[in-house]
Amino acid sequence: MSGEEALKKSLKNSYALIILDVQMPGMDGFEVAEILAGNSHTKDIPIIFLSAVNTDKKFITRGYSSGAIDYIVKPFDTDILLLKVKTFYRLYEQNRELTVMQEYLKSEVAFRKQAQLQIQEKVKELHSTLESIPQIAFTATLDGNIDFVNQQWFLFGSDSHTFPPNHPDDPNINDEWAKTIQSGEPLELELRIKKKDDIAYRYHLLRALPVKEQEKIVKWVGTFTDIEEQKQAVKKKDEFLTIASHELKTPLTSIKAYVQLLDKIIPAENHTKSYVDRTLRQVNKLDNLINDLLDISKIESGKLKFEMKELKFDALLNSTLDILRQIHPDYNIVKKGNVQAVILGNEVRLEQVIINYITNAIKYSPDKKEIHVITEIRNDELYLGVKDFGIGISLADQESVFRKFFRVSDSVPHVQGLGIGLYICSEILKRHNASFGVVSNIGKGSTFYFQTPVLEYT
Ligand code: ADP
Repeated sequence: MSGEEALKKSLKNSYALIILDVQMPGMDGFEVAEILAGNSHTKDIPIIFLSAVNTDKKFITRGYSSGAIDYIVKPFDTDILLLKVKTFYRLYEQNRELTVMQEYLKSEVAFRKQAQLQIQEKVKELHSTLESIPQIAFTATLDGNIDFVNQQWFLFGSDSHTFPPNHPDDPNINDEWAKTIQSGEPLELELRIKKKDDIAYRYHLLRALPVKEQEKIVKWVGTFTDIEEQKQAVKKKDEFLTIASHELKTPLTSIKAYVQLLDKIIPAENHTKSYVDRTLRQVNKLDNLINDLLDISKIESGKLKFEMKELKFDALLNSTLDILRQIHPDYNIVKKGNVQAVILGNEVRLEQVIINYITNAIKYSPDKKEIHVITEIRNDELYLGVKDFGIGISLADQESVFRKFFRVSDSVPHVQGLGIGLYICSEILKRHNASFGVVSNIGKGSTFYFQTPVLEYT
């Protein structure tokens, strides 16, 4: 009804198009159009003036200059007006879509800028962290090109894009790096590098981890840590173990021989015989322990070598079980399965593995006195499993039991051991091209197994 009403409505509602009279009571159409053009909410609404009275050129000019898109004089054709309305409405819609799109793009650009800034900040932070650590550190792009190195790097290498050269006897660092980049798996490698002005190489642990964003590798971060001192300490410890076990072995062999002699000459009815028996048992324990320590030092120095012969596995297993049944009469060692297989192996060493598996089964099942020894053919290979119903091993510890000196911390408290038996087994089994492992449930028991290739079986 009036300019004021038009203004009120257009501020409150959203309009696609306004058709405005020029002559109105109070405020005229031009004033209304100027106010609408000055308000951010209404400035983009297209306006068509419709006038019967103000048909003069000067009014039409004023109409356009106050922001109108058309000026129609009466009488007019309704159809044409409607067509114009439709066209303007379409234009308005397109315009609105463009505005929305523009807003979206603007916020997208702002977001990306912000994200880029954050990434730059993070990279800066990472670089200053890597500068502050005592290790040699570097970062690399997704495809393995080194793009940052810290100051330590230059003590060893002269070029910030290539690894410092490593000892020719160690695996080649560039080959290992190429493999790592291809696999996308973390790298852990011990190798020797030397300072530019030194002659001696020092052992370093190279570790490189992929940095992932939404499961995708975006870059790599790596360090070289000097482990020369640890390496030397381990070497000294190994040397000590070798010397000590050799030195212990010689007198013990004589003690064992004399005690065995005593055992033979003392008649069974003599009451001292039981003392000699007990002494012999303890001497045998000590002998086993020293043999284990000697095996460890042989493994360390790469000297654990043995001859492989064709052997009938079932006969070997039966004689081993006989020995164990004699030593542990209180345990029911049940053999399950009857596989006649010929394998290529070392009798003494395979017996050592079986004895170890079964002795452990006995040691770690103090309350359940039954052990199952299962043999069968699996995938054309010989499978041997030693199943106990004892304390079991947690999933986390199962991965480590074959590691050197590993013992489950809360295993049976009074059971002693060095945590080397299974490590020696694993080394023996590796040399037999056998796979091995453990399946276990806490409180229910464990099955230690190995699986080895066979020459023939029935
Ligand atoms: P040791 O028995 O001398 O400690 P091993 O290398 O033979 O050393 O075994 C390593 C560890 O694995 C043991 O200390 C024990 O914690 C765990 N383990 C081995 N066999 C069994 C088993 N049958 N049941 C439960 N735990 C076991």
